[in-house]
Amino acid sequence: MTGRTLANALRWMKDGTTVFLDAVEPDDAWLSAASRLPGWTRRHVIAHVAANADAVGNLVHWARTGIPTPMYPSPEARAAGIEQGARRPTADLITWLHRSAAHLASAIDGLTDEQWQRTVVTGQGRSVAATEIPWLRSREVYVHAVDLAAAVAFTDLPRDFLLALCHDVVAKRVSTAGPAVVLTATDVPARWSLGTDEPVSVSGSLAAIAAYLTGRDHDLTTADGAPAPALPPWL
Ligand code: ZN
Repeated sequence: MTGRTLANALRWMKDGTTVFLDAVEPDDAWLSAASRLPGWTRRHVIAHVAANADAVGNLVHWARTGIPTPMYPSPEARAAGIEQGARRPTADLITWLHRSAAHLASAIDGLTDEQWQRTVVTGQGRSVAATEIPWLRSREVYVHAVDLAAAVAFTDLPRDFLLALCHDVVAKRVSTAGPAVVLTATDVPARWSLGTDEPVSVSGSLAAIAAYLTGRDHDLTTADGAPAPALPPWL
């Protein structure tokens, strides 16, 4: 099976979690260095990924019990959790990262077919089937592994995940205003269109297109060498 099936998303979530955990060095200086995300140290990225496991776990609880359990009580609580988490002592932060990931994995393992079909509401307010939960988590662990500014780059992520990611981001972006761009992958047969005006054409590797679409550092240019047009925030 190709594409964003439940089986694939479960595989990506598991692999992406390993990729993220392996990229983290439990060293004070390393952790306090800047990540690729503006204003965030690696500690912030790790606190966010740990808090995300807990938040995604709330959706699993929702699917299991039918009791509405939002990811975060509020956007302010989400932000405060990241700030407080980033200030935890290193050993606590790393333990939280590992425990939250393990707890989420076992909670997901226990869902029944009926529970997978329950509707939950994401942090962005979308109503989705619980089968979407592993996809939400795979996005977080893989993309934030790159954000750690460590050993992981978009080129290291599985191609089938990158394809699904590009489809997902484009589906979100077509409903919001932004520049008109036609993106053609040079290493897989794939093409995406954004915007409604006369588009500029940009081509590059699938990894580079994924970086561009998710608002990360990229080296994509138009045919005449100009940088690809800047996109508004993705999430
Ligand atoms: Zn995130």
